[in-house]
Amino acid sequence: MSESNVTESEIRDAIAGIPDPEIGRSLGELDMIKKIMVESSGQVQIEIELPTPAYPNHERISEAIQKTLSEKSLGNVSVLFSSDVKGKNTGGGIGLKVKNIIAVGSGKGGVGKSTVAASLAYGLNSMGCKVGLLDADVYGPSIPHMVGATEKPSAIEETSASGETITRVQPIDAHGVKVISMGFFIDSDQAVIWRGPLLHRAITQFLKETNWGELDYLIIDMPPGTGDVCLTLSQSVGLAGAVVVCTPQQVALLDAIKAISMFNQVNIPVLGIVENMTGEIFGRGGAKKKAEELGLPFLGEIPIEANIRIQGDAGKIADLFKEDSPARPYLIDVTQRIAMQIAKELLETPSMPTLEIL
Ligand code: ADP
Repeated sequence: MSESNVTESEIRDAIAGIPDPEIGRSLGELDMIKKIMVESSGQVQIEIELPTPAYPNHERISEAIQKTLSEKSLGNVSVLFSSDVKGKNTGGGIGLKVKNIIAVGSGKGGVGKSTVAASLAYGLNSMGCKVGLLDADVYGPSIPHMVGATEKPSAIEETSASGETITRVQPIDAHGVKVISMGFFIDSDQAVIWRGPLLHRAITQFLKETNWGELDYLIIDMPPGTGDVCLTLSQSVGLAGAVVVCTPQQVALLDAIKAISMFNQVNIPVLGIVENMTGEIFGRGGAKKKAEELGLPFLGEIPIEANIRIQGDAGKIADLFKEDSPARPYLIDVTQRIAMQIAKELLETPSMPTLEIL
């Protein structure tokens, strides 16, 4: 067949069965073939829509397409990529337009949970996602400091569809990420005792009354080890899942197991474990081994590195994603693994039973 006679449907038929290298279902089943354009010269342009911009090594898809089409002599092809973040959209009940809500938790403080939460937010943001960061670590709200958000959020008034005036809090835009934290509302030396109902009210207000707008991902930095905020989240919004952060040594892993069982108890799916502060001091690989033992995904490791602390202290977590930052490849890897874990859980199995099964 002469290449210029190739039709769009021939191309579609030829590539629809190619398996997606991450999710394992075909490009056709996953509805990833967004557009096929055949030019009169025989040049073919294919647009592939990824389920998240955090998709790793998407060149694998173009290589597979090119190989398949060249084997069938079906034209000269160039593959373009776009993305549309897939999500559970669980916040609709309380008016949130957020595709994926991700909790970042740990069994105890000091393991780098807030650092990982902020890094995840900036990692996703650096890939082009719309991201919010909710600091629910009311016992030690460190996010404003880490992301360099010093001003106080302002209140804005909106008129609802039914004509009521609603007051909302405008989150702080910190280098492109929308941030809200209890740290904005209390003095840093003010001790606050949070009892369950008060905590529940504060978190619900943060979720409902913040002007988040449309987000692809809302990252929640959880308080370490406590169950109250988990319960509130599972009751009010439902989550894409929780990421558990721990350091590699055995004692820290025991705490991580407690965090996992707490999420399990309130039916929040655990996306997996991130090992932070990997290196000479705490060792390496403990979290990966533990994840395997527990049958949970391992979501990457982040080395212990002075620059991570220095940038966190300086309010410049976003700078960890600069090209020359040594932490960048690790943080990108963790970001991609987390986003893909959510995409996999959503897309690995067909959402509707097929006719043959019925
Ligand atoms: P948590 O939220 O678990 O209490 P933080 O994120 O506040 O922990 O981190 C505790 C301290 O450790 C902070 O000073 C932070 O900058 C530092 N830190 C976190 N991760 C790393 C890392 N990978 N390398 C070096 N320092 C780190």
